[in-house]
Amino acid sequence: MGMPLHVIAPGSRASDVPASASEALAGVEPRFEGLYVHVPFCFHKCHYCDFYSFVDTEDRQQAFVERLERELAALAAWVRAPLGTVFVGGGTPTLLAPPLLERALRAMRERMPLAAGAEWTVEANPETVDDAVAGALAAAGVNRVSLGAQSFDPRHLKTLERWHDPDSVARAIRRLRAAGVARISIDLIFGIPGQTLAEWASDLDRALALGTDHLSCYGLTYEPNTAMAVRLSRGEFEPCDEGVEATMLEEAVARLARAGFDRYEVSNWARVRDGDRTAERCRHNVLYWRNRDWLAAGPSASGHAQGVRWKNVPRLGDWLASEGTSPAVDVERADPDTRACERLMMGLRLVDGVPEAEVSEILALGARGSARAAAIARAESAGMLERVGGRLRFTPRGMMTANATLAELA
Ligand code: SF4
Repeated sequence: MGMPLHVIAPGSRASDVPASASEALAGVEPRFEGLYVHVPFCFHKCHYCDFYSFVDTEDRQQAFVERLERELAALAAWVRAPLGTVFVGGGTPTLLAPPLLERALRAMRERMPLAAGAEWTVEANPETVDDAVAGALAAAGVNRVSLGAQSFDPRHLKTLERWHDPDSVARAIRRLRAAGVARISIDLIFGIPGQTLAEWASDLDRALALGTDHLSCYGLTYEPNTAMAVRLSRGEFEPCDEGVEATMLEEAVARLARAGFDRYEVSNWARVRDGDRTAERCRHNVLYWRNRDWLAAGPSASGHAQGVRWKNVPRLGDWLASEGTSPAVDVERADPDTRACERLMMGLRLVDGVPEAEVSEILALGARGSARAAAIARAESAGMLERVGGRLRFTPRGMMTANATLAELA
């Protein structure tokens, strides 16, 4: 669940030779602003999921938490200023038995310096949120929960092989609010095989009726090696028509705007609070889109510092057996062209876009600067990009096909 973290621009150099996260950062002066913690356990593997997660038999949860405590202690040495965000994703973090969940959250709070008012998000599968879990989250100081609802239609949940009762989302929200968790986000998926526009509109309405503060709406993708991709290749179902999927996105844009939500990123909407468009944005994910520095803990978690990306070893056994910071794989030290490309492509995903001065700087940096400048000019003439208030950004129409335009800038 959650947003994809491994956004690697074409041209990046990857290495499969394992190194430690410490080696990856040799010679770099990181300015970490956030922490991502990956909990890899799930109750069941959903058919569309390509995140590093597996069915938990509970026998390694304790070892996981003990190793996490040691990893956080090692990572704390790299932190120079209090962190503004923590995001605990997975997997299903709330599948940890409550005493272990409490212990893991305590380790994050005690071993990491957190800024006053830091945003602390935990992803949750609605079925896992009972009173004990909601209480543990609130007591630890978690102030935001992201619920993987995906759909409220049992047929479509079955297609995705999501094992939760649609009514469990409302129950989870009631428990979280009663415990004192202030901010709730809901993830939805559209373009599910067999889903109609009316059914998608109903999913949006049900999410809004629950009083959510933030919505992430993702078109279903068929990632290689997932069960959904295999079923598609076997012809077990017809994928959603592209035109219908585009109309579903338009429906989300219109319906959520009417409900007082601001689309601040290609797939993300935040409720506008007392005229403040930024209050409910996921500050942690904004770090990713602004290409800032964040720490990674847990197997397969990805981190970034000053153009260096790495991924913690994506095998639980190897991660458990390691000490200090995690062994790392896919270490990339971006060259200037790649960094320029990443800043542009990630920044444009945000509705506010990228300051024009930064765009000029980025185009001057990269070897492909003139090709990118030409692609930007083409997108501007086609009405997809615009310059407003000293920033380059997508137009509302351009946002609808943002991924295609971004591919041209790569
Ligand atoms: S609950 Fe989330 S992480 Fe786990 S299998 Fe399903 S989509 Fe993947």
